[in-house]
Amino acid sequence: MHQILVIDDDAVSQQFLVMVLRRLGYDKIAVANDGIEALVQLDAGDLQFDVIFCDLDMPRMDGIEFVRHLGERTYQGKLLISSGFDEKVLESVAELARLYDLWLAGVLPKPINHSTLLDLLTQAPPAARRPASLASQPTQEEMRDGIEKNEFCPFFQPQVDMLSGKVHSVEILARWHHPRLGLTSPLQFIELAEKTGLITPLTLSLLDSATSILSKLIDNPPLDLSINLSMTSLSDTALVSEFESILTRNGYPMSRLTVEVTETGLIENPTRALEILSRLRLKGAKLAIDDFGTGFASMDRLSKLPFTELKIDKGFVIDSAQNPTNLSILKASAALGKQLKLLVVAEGVATITEWLSCRQLGIDKAQGSYISPPIDAENFRRWLLKHNGVFPVPQDSAYDLPNLN
Ligand code: C2E
Ligand code: CA
Ligand code: CA
Repeated sequence: MHQILVIDDDAVSQQFLVMVLRRLGYDKIAVANDGIEALVQLDAGDLQFDVIFCDLDMPRMDGIEFVRHLGERTYQGKLLISSGFDEKVLESVAELARLYDLWLAGVLPKPINHSTLLDLLTQAPPAARRPASLASQPTQEEMRDGIEKNEFCPFFQPQVDMLSGKVHSVEILARWHHPRLGLTSPLQFIELAEKTGLITPLTLSLLDSATSILSKLIDNPPLDLSINLSMTSLSDTALVSEFESILTRNGYPMSRLTVEVTETGLIENPTRALEILSRLRLKGAKLAIDDFGTGFASMDRLSKLPFTELKIDKGFVIDSAQNPTNLSILKASAALGKQLKLLVVAEGVATITEWLSCRQLGIDKAQGSYISPPIDAENFRRWLLKHNGVFPVPQDSAYDLPNLN
């Protein structure tokens, strides 16, 4: 199923298009109110968009500039322009798209015509178009090699208490010093690792490096550590004991570990998930539901799994003070987390406004570039020293608080 992004500053046309797409059976739809918001979502990289609908006339960054940014990012998916503009403007956009080697599949007239929409959505790529250049993708052999040669390393992103600013915990995010491609993001290799059965060895090696690094940080009180666990790792019945032996070896108690799993994984294999997650809890680890709001886990199922923490996906935190849909989801997620007595964490807190909104909503912990982006071990050690383990929380009285009603 396609992952779609709809960019339109006009709330009515935006929501109308979303509604029509849903009726056609497309349900993986993200929205952005202008090009800048869209770029934030693209660069966050959480979602790989197969189709982008872009309006041309938008404030801040218009559709034409956005097309250029798409070109610079060598976007490989389908681009559809929705516009009431005349031929001339559309022709120059088409030319721009061609220059950037973008796949401009067509123009969607306003108001929307259902059959044109379906035609455009189902249109196959032109023969000349190939999937993303293979040379820029890591291979399975390189990955196997890379794990052996320790090319993977943990990056650290602090999570702070929103009231006291105390740095209680840190999320471990995988990075790969790829010999050919340089520092590589997990979005380029996690899926490959999952498909090739290499994700469990990778997770174990990250956990080993991270706990060994953190247990040597003597200047600060011990930190809790969160690690991402793919659902494909759950078929490995030895996983819990392997976690245990790594932590024991590095003198890191199980009670300091939080394992993050996504909603999607839980839906795919609920029984396995329940078994392994319960065993992790039994051994004292904590459990977070990650990317909350992006999947469709039923409340019933969530309440039956032994979670201790709910992480609201950054997609809903971004721009929450301006975007009513995001704000509603952020509010509802925070309230649900509280109701289920879970620790509520907001990820992707990137601005002071987002911080203030999250704190007003009673969210317990924040993580995001407002505090620190993910950084390597040495920079993380310096960051902790600089702040002495406490992030300076902004005082409400110094700011106009966002209106969250
Ligand atoms: P995630 O678990 O949702 O991790 C949060 C992502 O948000 C990280 O992306 C982080 O760099 C990014 N982020 C944090 N704060 C901000 C912010 O203020 N603004 C923006 N735009 N982004 C922010 P990253 O490191 O690229 O990781 C992407 C995803 O890859 C992770 O999403 C996680 O699902 C997966 N991943 C990373 N490491 C591992 C791993 O060791 N194992 C598994 N299974 N998955 C991993
Ligand atoms: Ca995570
Ligand atoms: Ca996320």
